[in-house]
Amino acid sequence: MPKLNRREFNKLAGATAVGTATFGSFAYAQGKGRCVIIGGGAGGATVAHHVKKAAPELDVTLIEVHKRYTTCFFSNLYLGGFRTFDSITHDYSGLVRLGVNVIHDLATGVDTAKKTVSLAGGGTVAYDKLVLSPGISFKWGQIEGYDPKASAVMPHAWQAGPQTRLLKAQLEAMPDGGVVVMSPPPNPYRCPPGPYERASMIAYYLKTKKPKSKLIIFDPKPKFSKMALFQEGWEQHYSDIIEWVPPDISGGGVKKVDPSTMTVITGDGEKTKAAVANIIPAQKAGTIAALAGCTKGDWCPIKPDSFASALVNDVYVLGDSSIATKMPKSGFSANSQAKVVANAVVAELAQKKRFPARFRNTCWSLISPNNGVKVGASYKAGADKVEVTSKFISKTGESDDVRKKTYEESLGWYAGITADMFAKG
Ligand SMILES: Cc1cc2nc3c(=O)[nH]c(=O)nc-3n(C[C@H](O)[C@H](O)[C@H](O)COP(=O)(O)OP(=O)(O)OC[C@H]3O[C@@H](n4cnc5c(N)ncnc54)[C@H](O)[C@@H]3O)c2cc1C
Repeated sequence: MPKLNRREFNKLAGATAVGTATFGSFAYAQGKGRCVIIGGGAGGATVAHHVKKAAPELDVTLIEVHKRYTTCFFSNLYLGGFRTFDSITHDYSGLVRLGVNVIHDLATGVDTAKKTVSLAGGGTVAYDKLVLSPGISFKWGQIEGYDPKASAVMPHAWQAGPQTRLLKAQLEAMPDGGVVVMSPPPNPYRCPPGPYERASMIAYYLKTKKPKSKLIIFDPKPKFSKMALFQEGWEQHYSDIIEWVPPDISGGGVKKVDPSTMTVITGDGEKTKAAVANIIPAQKAGTIAALAGCTKGDWCPIKPDSFASALVNDVYVLGDSSIATKMPKSGFSANSQAKVVANAVVAELAQKKRFPARFRNTCWSLISPNNGVKVGASYKAGADKVEVTSKFISKTGESDDVRKKTYEESLGWYAGITADMFAKG
């Protein structure tokens, strides 16, 4: 059930009636305009913060299934031993203090005609504007034998939390001399450089703790984000550990797994026995986005100037679920899109000023201690897509000093984005 006790309910019920929402079997009065957000991650939590801050008179409800959110960003650093699990895990108390109504429940459906969201715990929540930022779901079955049950043995760790802990525990438990296999996903997927930062962090762990071990990456793609930078770093630091195998050598990457024997089978028929297998499946929009009718194919098309759904009225879709052409699926992108969505919602519901849409993204990756690299761009809303206005990338052969500064920049970014998402401080 939604977490609303009797006293809170009575308080809500006593408020001046302007709009009426249904909630469980109750109906309660609401304020001027109702903004409901599904998904309390990089996109959704930021929207909740900025809508409430800009227009405290609006009713802002955030529906998030988990009580605590572990960031995928910096979860690779946890695997490498550079962060604790606690330091990448956050709660929603800052948003509650700000006046956001946080409901920890699973949204199971959206009735876009009645403008209501149904909850697994029972009841519905009514909206005037709905924001969807549910992240990704997986396309199970593209690798034979890899399903949710198999992921309990061969973790993907592509949604942070218990899966990340499982992968770390398996690395800690494996023998020195074992083989770690990674299967990165096909495009498009959340965090383009993520698998390669992960490879670097796993290799760092193996080099320092289990130096006789190997990491084999069976990639379904012939090239990847920041490829020259990662390959330079791997050559310098992990040449005895990492083997990256392109798809023309392996017959297209991993095609089948057998968790009972920890065997990974590539397209050329070769079998590899893994001590640890990190299988990252192909991805698509979060399930609720499809249930709301916002998907076309795997992802949600949007209007670039507001991230309003191109398919459903009064619904916005941002973050990984949206397809914003040139913008990569990253926490930075989702946070940047969230400011534009919040501004659009506040302009519509509270008649405040609308600003032109501008977006930014930077993806930092850590290759080895103090060795950070980055790629990024600025964007504007074009007629039918988000367009790049300028871009940058770290160079190969940079000095230690530049790389250290880049890493330190990423620490500042992490502190900043999590404060912005969860209204800390
Ligand atoms: C290993 C890894 C490393 C990464 N590193 C970086 C990085 O360094 N920098 C960077 O910018 N990005 C990074 N990313 C990408 C980043 O994590 C995502 O792009 C970002 O989290 C997307 O934000 P989102 O709001 O779309 O989804 P999420 O942050 O995943 O939030 C979605 C939320 O919605 C909730 N939810 C979903 N469906 C429902 C429902 N039906 N009802 C209730 N709640 C629901 C989920 O529980 C979740 O909390 C990384 C990703 C990975 C996997």
